[in-house]
Amino acid sequence: MPPSGRQAGRYPGPVAATELDQVVNLCKRRGFVFPSAEIYGGFRSTYDYGPLGVLLLRNVKDAWWRSMVQLRGDIVGLDAAILSPPAVWEASGHLKNFTDPLVDCKVCRQRFRLDKLDDPHTCPNCGSKDSFTEARQFNLMFKTFAGPVEEDAAVAYLRPETAQGMFVNFANVLQTTRKKPPFGIAQIGKSFRNEITPQNWIFRTREFEQMEMEFFVPPADSSRWYEYWCAERLQWFVDHGIPAELLRLRAHDADELSHYSSGTSDVEFLFPWGWDELEGIANRGDYDLTEHATHSGERLEYFDQAAGERYVPHVIEPAAGATRTMAAFLLAAYDEDEVGGERRTVLRLHPRLAPYKVAVLPLSKKEPLLSLSHEVAALLRPRYLVDEDDTQSIGRRYRRQDEIGTPLAVTVDFDSIEDKAVTIRDRDSTEQVRVPIDRLIDEIESRLA
Ligand code: ATP
Repeated sequence: MPPSGRQAGRYPGPVAATELDQVVNLCKRRGFVFPSAEIYGGFRSTYDYGPLGVLLLRNVKDAWWRSMVQLRGDIVGLDAAILSPPAVWEASGHLKNFTDPLVDCKVCRQRFRLDKLDDPHTCPNCGSKDSFTEARQFNLMFKTFAGPVEEDAAVAYLRPETAQGMFVNFANVLQTTRKKPPFGIAQIGKSFRNEITPQNWIFRTREFEQMEMEFFVPPADSSRWYEYWCAERLQWFVDHGIPAELLRLRAHDADELSHYSSGTSDVEFLFPWGWDELEGIANRGDYDLTEHATHSGERLEYFDQAAGERYVPHVIEPAAGATRTMAAFLLAAYDEDEVGGERRTVLRLHPRLAPYKVAVLPLSKKEPLLSLSHEVAALLRPRYLVDEDDTQSIGRRYRRQDEIGTPLAVTVDFDSIEDKAVTIRDRDSTEQVRVPIDRLIDEIESRLA
């Protein structure tokens, strides 16, 4: 077994490609992420989220929603359509500009995104020099037809980002919520990009989920809010368990900025292949609302009654990938250590993100232990996702729960029948304490908090 585990200095510093493999394998083996359509040989770059993955991904999205919507009074939610007419993408600039430069290697026929090559003269696949074709601009949007006839009038696009839904609904939200700048609209949902080089597992896929928020502010305050959201979003990842040294905020250089942006920073994570983007925070000015107002003919402004003035709010946009973020949480949480002289794999996920919060483990399958264990599980289920497991030795079952990140295991043993108490075991410290069943919920609550 190669040396690993956080203790062995896995992060930060030089990291081995095997670490991605370890996490990918664990996710396949334990039902987090499966390659899509696997029984038909798979479908490149699409993934299915299994019983544990769907819980983890949902918890990532819920944690974001909790921070963005629930804990604040100034952001409301939205769930806009995925299918949209060309007019939206004409106005947003995506039809014209949402392209990546595509090159083919004339020797090995592999295809690359020119802007992502370390050396634009050397093929990373076969090593040939100056073997690339001229770059072609390739539009990343998935085009389809709404209705039975495949004609120009029926063209529709799968959204390549969720953000346009917020701009298009700006007036609807203003009218229905009594919000005024500064306020935000948040959305979580699927986006689709016909990526030239999908890669690195769920990091870059053609179908993915985003968590985006458009924060509308008075123009004079936009710089302040941009700084605020950069700090806030970086902190969110730390608060949810990613060590600060695996995160950084990188401001875009002037030549990286889109023409309308006066500032963009990426929250980057130290992936096994190096620093890469988790989320972009952009100061978008009034570009989006102005473009949609011009193209639609609708007024997309705010009228400040107190000041008697009308203005187009500026927009600060924190845009994160939910599936990509899930990959980062998994990579950061993956650890190997030794317990009682035995190696174990443990996912040190933040309790809010862990698929199951509690495992209920009867020491034996014998009655009345099994019934008592069912009772304890039933007591906890209205509050927490519970995994009940009664197969194999208790040690094996602890390991299985450690490997999927379950923060707490509750063991029901023969004494439990007499003393009406159970043992709680902590995933990270492996410490065990005895707790009366009638105080179990309080104890779990305080440990998960
Ligand atoms: P990149 O330069 O990596 O292609 P981007 O800068 O175009 O990404 P944005 O348009 O800012 O990405 O999208 C916001 C977020 O959505 C990204 O930070 C990322 O987390 C996520 N995201 C974008 N494209 C993909 C994808 N193909 N697969 C998974 N997540 C993605």
